[in-house]
Amino acid sequence: WQTLSNRIQNVAPSATLAVDTKAKAMKAEGIDIIGFGAGEPNFPTPGYIVEAAVEACRDPRNHRYTPTAGLPELKAAIAEKTKRDSGYSVDASQVVVTNGGKQAVYETLQVLVDPGDEVIVPAPYWTSYPEMVKLAGGVPISVLSSVKHGFVPTVDQLEAVRTDRTKAIVVNSPSNPCGSVWDAQTIREIAHWALEHHVWILSDEIYEHLTYDGKKTSYIGAEVPECREQLIVLNGVAKTFAMTGWRVGWLIAPRFFAQAVSKLQGHLSSNVSDVSQRAALAAVSGDLSAVSQMREAFDIRRQRIERMLNEIPGVFCPKPTGAFYAFCDVSALLGQPHGPHGTVSHSSAELAAALLEEAHIAAVPGEAFGAEGYLRFSYALEDNDLIEGMQRFRKWAEA
Ligand code: PLP
Repeated sequence: WQTLSNRIQNVAPSATLAVDTKAKAMKAEGIDIIGFGAGEPNFPTPGYIVEAAVEACRDPRNHRYTPTAGLPELKAAIAEKTKRDSGYSVDASQVVVTNGGKQAVYETLQVLVDPGDEVIVPAPYWTSYPEMVKLAGGVPISVLSSVKHGFVPTVDQLEAVRTDRTKAIVVNSPSNPCGSVWDAQTIREIAHWALEHHVWILSDEIYEHLTYDGKKTSYIGAEVPECREQLIVLNGVAKTFAMTGWRVGWLIAPRFFAQAVSKLQGHLSSNVSDVSQRAALAAVSGDLSAVSQMREAFDIRRQRIERMLNEIPGVFCPKPTGAFYAFCDVSALLGQPHGPHGTVSHSSAELAAALLEEAHIAAVPGEAFGAEGYLRFSYALEDNDLIEGMQRFRKWAEA
Protein backbone atom coordinates (compact mmCIF):
# COMPACT_ATOMS: atom_id res chain seq x y z
CA TRP A 1 0.00 0.00 0.00
CA GLN A 2 2.98 2.29 0.29
CA THR A 3 3.80 2.26 -3.42
CA LEU A 4 3.97 5.52 -5.29
CA SER A 5 1.74 6.18 -8.26
CA ASN A 6 2.76 4.73 -11.63
CA ARG A 7 2.61 8.27 -12.94
CA ILE A 8 5.43 9.49 -10.72
CA GLN A 9 7.46 6.29 -10.96
CA ASN A 10 7.52 6.74 -14.72
CA VAL A 11 9.17 10.13 -14.49
CA ALA A 12 12.91 10.78 -14.43
CA PRO A 13 14.21 13.45 -12.04
CA SER A 14 15.43 16.70 -13.59
CA ALA A 15 18.96 15.83 -14.69
CA THR A 16 20.06 19.44 -14.92
CA LEU A 17 18.97 20.13 -11.35
CA ALA A 18 20.65 16.86 -10.25
CA VAL A 19 24.04 17.94 -11.62
CA ASP A 20 23.69 21.33 -10.04
CA THR A 21 22.74 19.80 -6.68
CA LYS A 22 25.70 17.40 -6.72
CA ALA A 23 28.09 20.21 -7.70
CA LYS A 24 26.72 22.43 -4.91
CA ALA A 25 27.07 19.57 -2.37
CA MET A 26 30.72 19.06 -3.37
CA LYS A 27 31.27 22.81 -3.11
CA ALA A 28 29.77 22.76 0.38
CA GLU A 29 32.33 20.10 1.31
CA GLY A 30 35.00 22.65 0.38
CA ILE A 31 35.83 21.23 -3.08
CA ASP A 32 36.49 23.94 -5.64
CA ILE A 33 33.92 23.01 -8.31
CA ILE A 34 33.34 25.08 -11.41
CA GLY A 35 29.69 24.78 -12.37
CA PHE A 36 28.72 24.76 -16.05
CA GLY A 37 25.48 22.99 -15.12
CA ALA A 38 22.90 25.60 -14.24
CA GLY A 39 20.88 27.50 -16.81
CA GLU A 40 20.99 30.61 -14.71
CA PRO A 41 22.44 34.04 -15.60
CA ASN A 42 25.10 35.01 -13.06
CA PHE A 43 24.14 38.72 -13.22
CA PRO A 44 22.06 40.44 -10.54
CA THR A 45 18.46 41.29 -11.38
CA PRO A 46 18.51 44.89 -12.75
CA GLY A 47 18.07 47.52 -10.01
CA TYR A 48 14.83 49.09 -11.30
CA ILE A 49 13.13 45.69 -11.13
CA VAL A 50 14.32 45.07 -7.56
CA GLU A 51 13.13 48.58 -6.59
CA ALA A 52 9.66 47.87 -7.97
CA ALA A 53 9.53 44.74 -5.81
CA VAL A 54 10.71 46.60 -2.69
CA GLU A 55 8.02 49.21 -3.21
CA ALA A 56 5.43 46.48 -3.76
CA CYS A 57 6.45 44.81 -0.49
CA ARG A 58 5.85 48.06 1.40
CA ASP A 59 2.37 48.54 -0.02
CA PRO A 60 -0.02 46.77 2.36
CA ARG A 61 -2.46 46.05 -0.47
CA ASN A 62 -0.01 43.58 -1.98
CA HIS A 63 -0.36 40.81 0.54
CA ARG A 64 -3.44 39.47 -1.15
CA TYR A 65 -4.29 36.87 -3.77
CA THR A 66 -4.31 38.42 -7.22
CA PRO A 67 -6.59 37.07 -9.97
CA THR A 68 -5.45 33.50 -10.77
CA ALA A 69 -4.36 34.31 -14.32
CA GLY A 70 -2.30 37.29 -13.16
CA LEU A 71 -2.50 41.01 -12.41
CA PRO A 72 -4.51 42.71 -15.17
CA GLU A 73 -1.77 45.35 -15.63
CA LEU A 74 0.88 42.63 -16.00
CA LYS A 75 -1.19 40.73 -18.57
CA ALA A 76 -1.70 43.98 -20.49
CA ALA A 77 2.05 44.69 -20.35
CA ILE A 78 2.82 41.18 -21.62
CA ALA A 79 0.43 41.75 -24.54
CA GLU A 80 2.22 45.06 -25.27
CA LYS A 81 5.62 43.44 -25.02
CA THR A 82 4.53 40.72 -27.43
CA LYS A 83 3.58 43.38 -29.96
CA ARG A 84 6.92 45.12 -29.46
CA ASP A 85 9.15 42.03 -29.61
CA SER A 86 7.24 39.48 -31.69
CA GLY A 87 5.42 41.91 -33.98
CA TYR A 88 1.80 40.79 -33.60
CA SER A 89 -1.17 41.64 -31.40
CA VAL A 90 -2.62 39.46 -28.68
CA ASP A 91 -5.30 40.32 -26.15
CA ALA A 92 -4.57 40.40 -22.42
CA SER A 93 -7.30 37.77 -21.97
CA GLN A 94 -5.09 35.29 -23.85
CA VAL A 95 -2.33 35.57 -21.23
CA VAL A 96 -1.93 33.42 -18.10
CA VAL A 97 0.86 34.34 -15.66
CA THR A 98 2.51 31.25 -14.19
CA ASN A 99 5.15 30.27 -11.64
CA GLY A 100 7.98 30.36 -14.16
CA GLY A 101 8.02 29.19 -17.74
CA LYS A 102 8.17 25.66 -16.37
CA GLN A 103 4.66 25.83 -14.99
CA ALA A 104 3.44 27.30 -18.28
CA VAL A 105 4.77 24.25 -20.14
CA TYR A 106 3.37 21.85 -17.55
CA GLU A 107 -0.11 23.38 -17.51
CA THR A 108 -0.25 23.58 -21.29
CA LEU A 109 0.40 19.85 -21.56
CA GLN A 110 -2.10 19.04 -18.81
CA VAL A 111 -4.77 20.99 -20.65
CA LEU A 112 -3.90 19.66 -24.10
CA VAL A 113 -2.97 16.01 -23.79
CA ASP A 114 -5.22 12.98 -23.27
CA PRO A 115 -3.84 9.53 -22.41
CA GLY A 116 -2.09 8.08 -25.45
CA ASP A 117 -1.76 11.39 -27.31
CA GLU A 118 1.64 11.89 -28.88
CA VAL A 119 3.72 15.02 -28.62
CA ILE A 120 6.69 15.42 -30.94
CA VAL A 121 9.71 16.67 -29.03
CA PRO A 122 12.66 17.50 -31.27
CA ALA A 123 15.89 16.31 -29.66
CA PRO A 124 18.25 17.39 -28.24
CA TYR A 125 15.46 18.80 -26.06
CA TRP A 126 15.06 20.65 -22.77
CA THR A 127 15.05 17.85 -20.24
CA SER A 128 11.58 18.57 -18.80
CA TYR A 129 9.48 18.34 -22.00
CA PRO A 130 9.23 14.54 -22.32
CA GLU A 131 8.71 14.06 -18.58
CA MET A 132 5.91 16.62 -18.57
CA VAL A 133 4.29 14.91 -21.56
CA LYS A 134 4.38 11.64 -19.60
CA LEU A 135 2.93 13.34 -16.53
CA ALA A 136 0.00 14.38 -18.71
CA GLY A 137 -0.50 10.75 -19.78
CA GLY A 138 0.91 11.40 -23.24
CA VAL A 139 3.69 9.78 -25.22
CA PRO A 140 6.74 11.90 -26.07
CA ILE A 141 8.03 11.17 -29.56
CA SER A 142 11.62 12.22 -29.84
CA VAL A 143 13.08 13.22 -33.21
CA LEU A 144 16.83 13.64 -33.16
CA SER A 145 18.21 16.44 -35.33
CA SER A 146 21.79 16.28 -36.51
CA VAL A 147 24.77 18.48 -35.76
CA LYS A 148 25.21 18.87 -39.52
CA HIS A 149 21.73 20.40 -39.71
CA GLY A 150 22.60 22.85 -36.92
CA PHE A 151 20.43 20.83 -34.52
CA VAL A 152 17.28 21.97 -36.34
CA PRO A 153 14.72 19.28 -37.29
CA THR A 154 13.34 19.02 -40.82
CA VAL A 155 9.68 18.71 -41.74
CA ASP A 156 10.48 15.33 -43.33
CA GLN A 157 11.64 14.08 -39.93
CA LEU A 158 8.41 15.30 -38.32
CA GLU A 159 6.28 13.79 -41.05
CA ALA A 160 8.05 10.44 -40.61
CA VAL A 161 6.81 10.15 -37.01
CA ARG A 162 3.36 11.73 -37.43
CA THR A 163 0.41 9.46 -36.62
CA ASP A 164 -3.29 10.09 -36.05
CA ARG A 165 -2.45 10.48 -32.33
CA THR A 166 -0.03 13.38 -32.96
CA LYS A 167 -1.42 16.20 -30.86
CA ALA A 168 1.35 18.75 -30.66
CA ILE A 169 4.93 19.64 -31.49
CA VAL A 170 7.35 21.51 -29.26
CA VAL A 171 9.43 24.27 -30.83
CA ASN A 172 12.20 25.78 -28.73
CA SER A 173 14.23 28.43 -30.49
CA PRO A 174 16.69 29.70 -29.35
CA SER A 175 17.23 26.24 -27.98
CA ASN A 176 18.24 24.74 -24.70
CA PRO A 177 20.49 22.69 -24.83
CA CYS A 178 21.73 23.23 -28.41
CA GLY A 179 22.14 27.00 -28.43
CA SER A 180 20.71 26.91 -31.96
CA VAL A 181 18.36 29.47 -33.49
CA TRP A 182 15.89 28.05 -36.01
CA ASP A 183 15.77 30.00 -39.25
CA ALA A 184 12.55 31.67 -40.41
CA GLN A 185 12.18 29.29 -43.34
CA THR A 186 12.16 26.22 -41.05
CA ILE A 187 9.76 27.93 -38.64
CA ARG A 188 7.38 28.65 -41.52
CA GLU A 189 7.62 25.12 -42.89
CA ILE A 190 6.87 23.59 -39.49
CA ALA A 191 3.93 25.96 -38.95
CA HIS A 192 2.43 25.07 -42.35
CA TRP A 193 2.92 21.35 -41.66
CA ALA A 194 1.16 21.78 -38.29
CA LEU A 195 -1.69 23.72 -39.92
CA GLU A 196 -2.19 21.06 -42.56
CA HIS A 197 -2.28 18.21 -40.04
CA HIS A 198 -4.12 19.94 -37.15
CA VAL A 199 -1.17 19.73 -34.78
CA TRP A 200 -0.84 22.22 -31.91
CA ILE A 201 2.43 24.16 -31.71
CA LEU A 202 4.03 24.82 -28.32
CA SER A 203 6.57 27.55 -28.93
CA ASP A 204 8.94 28.01 -26.00
CA GLU A 205 10.47 31.46 -26.57
CA ILE A 206 12.12 31.91 -23.20
CA TYR A 207 15.55 32.69 -24.76
CA GLU A 208 14.10 35.04 -27.40
CA HIS A 209 16.46 37.94 -26.65
CA LEU A 210 19.68 35.93 -26.42
CA THR A 211 20.85 35.60 -30.01
CA TYR A 212 24.27 36.34 -31.54
CA ASP A 213 26.09 36.76 -34.86
CA GLY A 214 23.21 38.82 -36.24
CA LYS A 215 20.71 35.96 -35.81
CA LYS A 216 17.20 36.90 -34.69
CA THR A 217 14.40 34.86 -33.16
CA SER A 218 11.68 34.07 -35.68
CA TYR A 219 8.26 34.18 -34.08
CA ILE A 220 5.78 31.61 -35.37
CA GLY A 221 2.79 33.83 -34.59
CA ALA A 222 4.23 36.57 -36.80
CA GLU A 223 5.64 34.33 -39.55
CA VAL A 224 2.43 32.36 -40.05
CA PRO A 225 -0.51 34.29 -38.53
CA GLU A 226 -3.02 31.58 -39.59
CA CYS A 227 -1.62 29.19 -36.99
CA ARG A 228 -2.34 31.44 -33.99
CA GLU A 229 -5.50 29.44 -33.25
CA GLN A 230 -3.34 26.38 -32.56
CA LEU A 231 -0.31 28.13 -31.09
CA ILE A 232 0.69 28.36 -27.44
CA VAL A 233 3.60 30.65 -26.68
CA LEU A 234 5.60 29.95 -23.52
CA ASN A 235 7.82 32.61 -22.06
CA GLY A 236 9.06 34.24 -18.86
CA VAL A 237 11.39 36.76 -17.25
CA ALA A 238 13.95 34.26 -15.90
CA LYS A 239 16.54 34.27 -18.66
CA THR A 240 15.98 37.73 -20.17
CA PHE A 241 16.13 39.69 -16.91
CA ALA A 242 18.26 37.40 -14.70
CA MET A 243 15.18 36.57 -12.62
CA THR A 244 15.30 32.77 -12.33
CA GLY A 245 14.36 32.70 -8.65
CA TRP A 246 11.47 35.17 -8.93
CA ARG A 247 9.36 32.53 -10.67
CA VAL A 248 7.37 34.46 -13.21
CA GLY A 249 6.48 33.04 -16.59
CA TRP A 250 3.42 33.12 -18.83
CA LEU A 251 1.67 31.52 -21.72
CA ILE A 252 -0.26 33.10 -24.54
CA ALA A 253 -2.96 30.94 -26.11
CA PRO A 254 -6.36 31.15 -27.80
CA ARG A 255 -8.79 32.55 -25.23
CA PHE A 256 -10.68 29.29 -24.55
CA PHE A 257 -7.35 27.58 -23.92
CA ALA A 258 -6.14 30.32 -21.56
CA GLN A 259 -9.40 30.01 -19.62
CA ALA A 260 -8.87 26.26 -19.25
CA VAL A 261 -5.31 26.81 -18.00
CA SER A 262 -6.60 29.37 -15.51
CA LYS A 263 -9.14 26.81 -14.23
CA LEU A 264 -6.33 24.29 -13.71
CA GLN A 265 -4.07 26.84 -12.03
CA GLY A 266 -6.94 27.83 -9.73
CA HIS A 267 -6.73 24.35 -8.19
CA LEU A 268 -2.96 24.03 -8.39
CA SER A 269 -1.16 27.14 -7.21
CA SER A 270 -3.59 30.06 -7.62
CA ASN A 271 -1.71 33.21 -8.55
CA VAL A 272 2.01 33.90 -8.77
CA SER A 273 3.31 35.93 -5.80
CA ASP A 274 1.98 39.47 -6.09
CA VAL A 275 5.41 41.00 -5.40
CA SER A 276 7.06 38.90 -8.09
CA GLN A 277 4.35 39.88 -10.55
CA ARG A 278 4.99 43.56 -9.82
CA ALA A 279 8.71 43.03 -10.38
CA ALA A 280 7.89 41.28 -13.67
CA LEU A 281 5.66 44.23 -14.60
CA ALA A 282 8.64 46.56 -14.23
CA ALA A 283 10.73 44.14 -16.30
CA VAL A 284 8.41 43.65 -19.26
CA SER A 285 7.26 47.25 -19.44
CA GLY A 286 10.80 48.65 -19.27
CA ASP A 287 13.24 48.69 -22.16
CA LEU A 288 15.71 45.99 -23.17
CA SER A 289 18.95 47.83 -22.31
CA ALA A 290 19.79 45.54 -19.37
CA VAL A 291 19.41 42.44 -21.50
CA SER A 292 21.56 44.05 -24.23
CA GLN A 293 24.38 44.42 -21.73
CA MET A 294 24.02 40.83 -20.55
CA ARG A 295 23.92 39.63 -24.14
CA GLU A 296 27.20 41.41 -24.88
CA ALA A 297 28.86 39.68 -21.93
CA PHE A 298 27.39 36.32 -22.93
CA ASP A 299 28.63 36.83 -26.48
CA ILE A 300 32.24 37.22 -25.36
CA ARG A 301 31.97 34.05 -23.27
CA ARG A 302 30.24 32.21 -26.10
CA GLN A 303 33.11 32.88 -28.46
CA ARG A 304 35.65 31.98 -25.81
CA ILE A 305 34.02 28.72 -24.77
CA GLU A 306 33.51 27.61 -28.36
CA ARG A 307 37.18 28.23 -29.09
CA MET A 308 38.44 26.58 -25.91
CA LEU A 309 36.18 23.52 -26.30
CA ASN A 310 37.31 22.99 -29.88
CA GLU A 311 40.95 23.15 -28.75
CA ILE A 312 40.41 20.11 -26.52
CA PRO A 313 41.34 16.91 -28.35
CA GLY A 314 38.27 14.70 -28.84
CA VAL A 315 35.75 17.56 -28.46
CA PHE A 316 33.73 19.13 -31.27
CA CYS A 317 31.59 22.16 -30.46
CA PRO A 318 29.39 23.56 -33.22
CA LYS A 319 29.03 27.33 -32.98
CA PRO A 320 26.17 28.24 -30.64
CA THR A 321 24.14 31.22 -31.87
CA GLY A 322 21.53 31.54 -29.13
CA ALA A 323 20.71 31.12 -25.41
CA PHE A 324 23.80 30.54 -23.20
CA TYR A 325 24.73 26.93 -23.85
CA ALA A 326 27.50 25.19 -25.77
CA PHE A 327 26.48 21.66 -26.76
CA CYS A 328 29.45 19.63 -27.82
CA ASP A 329 30.10 16.20 -29.25
CA VAL A 330 32.41 14.28 -26.91
CA SER A 331 31.96 10.81 -28.44
CA ALA A 332 35.66 10.70 -29.37
CA LEU A 333 36.52 10.84 -25.64
CA LEU A 334 34.49 7.71 -24.86
CA GLY A 335 36.08 4.26 -24.59
CA GLN A 336 39.59 5.71 -24.11
CA PRO A 337 41.51 6.27 -20.87
CA HIS A 338 41.63 9.92 -19.77
CA GLY A 339 42.45 11.88 -16.64
CA PRO A 340 45.09 11.25 -13.97
CA HIS A 341 43.70 7.76 -13.19
CA GLY A 342 43.16 6.64 -16.77
CA THR A 343 39.38 6.55 -16.35
CA VAL A 344 37.48 5.01 -19.26
CA SER A 345 33.98 6.45 -19.77
CA HIS A 346 31.52 4.44 -21.81
CA SER A 347 28.82 7.09 -22.07
CA SER A 348 28.52 10.84 -21.81
CA ALA A 349 26.84 10.32 -18.41
CA GLU A 350 29.96 8.51 -17.17
CA LEU A 351 32.16 11.18 -18.72
CA ALA A 352 30.25 13.95 -16.92
CA ALA A 353 30.62 12.02 -13.63
CA ALA A 354 34.39 11.60 -14.20
CA LEU A 355 34.79 15.30 -15.02
CA LEU A 356 32.98 16.24 -11.83
CA GLU A 357 34.96 13.83 -9.62
CA GLU A 358 38.38 14.27 -11.20
CA ALA A 359 38.51 17.62 -12.98
CA HIS A 360 36.03 19.31 -10.63
CA ILE A 361 33.91 20.76 -13.41
CA ALA A 362 30.16 20.22 -13.67
CA ALA A 363 28.55 19.79 -17.10
CA VAL A 364 25.25 18.10 -17.98
CA PRO A 365 25.44 14.86 -20.00
CA GLY A 366 23.60 14.60 -23.32
CA GLU A 367 21.45 11.73 -21.99
CA ALA A 368 19.44 14.37 -20.12
CA PHE A 369 18.50 15.90 -23.48
CA GLY A 370 17.91 12.72 -25.49
CA ALA A 371 21.36 12.88 -27.14
CA GLU A 372 23.99 10.44 -25.91
CA GLY A 373 27.60 11.40 -26.66
CA TYR A 374 27.24 15.10 -25.88
CA LEU A 375 27.89 17.43 -22.97
CA ARG A 376 26.12 20.72 -22.33
CA PHE A 377 28.12 23.60 -20.90
CA SER A 378 26.21 26.64 -19.69
CA TYR A 379 28.39 29.74 -20.10
CA ALA A 380 26.34 31.83 -17.70
CA LEU A 381 29.27 32.04 -15.27
CA GLU A 382 32.17 34.40 -14.50
CA ASP A 383 34.83 34.75 -17.23
CA ASN A 384 37.66 33.63 -14.94
CA ASP A 385 35.75 30.52 -13.94
CA LEU A 386 34.97 29.78 -17.55
CA ILE A 387 38.65 29.95 -18.51
CA GLU A 388 39.80 27.94 -15.51
CA GLY A 389 37.09 25.31 -16.10
CA MET A 390 38.05 24.88 -19.75
CA GLN A 391 41.73 24.55 -18.78
CA ARG A 392 40.80 21.82 -16.31
CA PHE A 393 38.81 19.96 -18.96
CA ARG A 394 41.69 20.19 -21.42
CA LYS A 395 44.25 19.02 -18.91
CA TRP A 396 42.02 16.08 -17.96
CA ALA A 397 41.38 15.11 -21.62
CA GLU A 398 45.08 15.32 -22.48
CA ALA A 399 46.23 13.31 -19.46
N1 PLP B 1 12.02 26.47 -21.13
C1 PLP B 1 13.32 26.25 -21.33
C2 PLP B 1 13.77 25.85 -22.69
C3 PLP B 1 14.25 26.39 -20.29
O1 PLP B 1 15.55 26.18 -20.52
C4 PLP B 1 13.78 26.74 -19.00
C5 PLP B 1 14.71 26.83 -17.86
O2 PLP B 1 15.76 26.29 -17.83
C6 PLP B 1 12.41 26.96 -18.84
C7 PLP B 1 11.56 26.82 -19.92
C8 PLP B 1 11.80 27.33 -17.50
O3 PLP B 1 12.22 28.52 -17.02
P1 PLP B 1 11.61 29.13 -15.67
O4 PLP B 1 10.64 28.14 -15.12
O5 PLP B 1 12.77 29.36 -14.78
O6 PLP B 1 10.92 30.39 -16.09
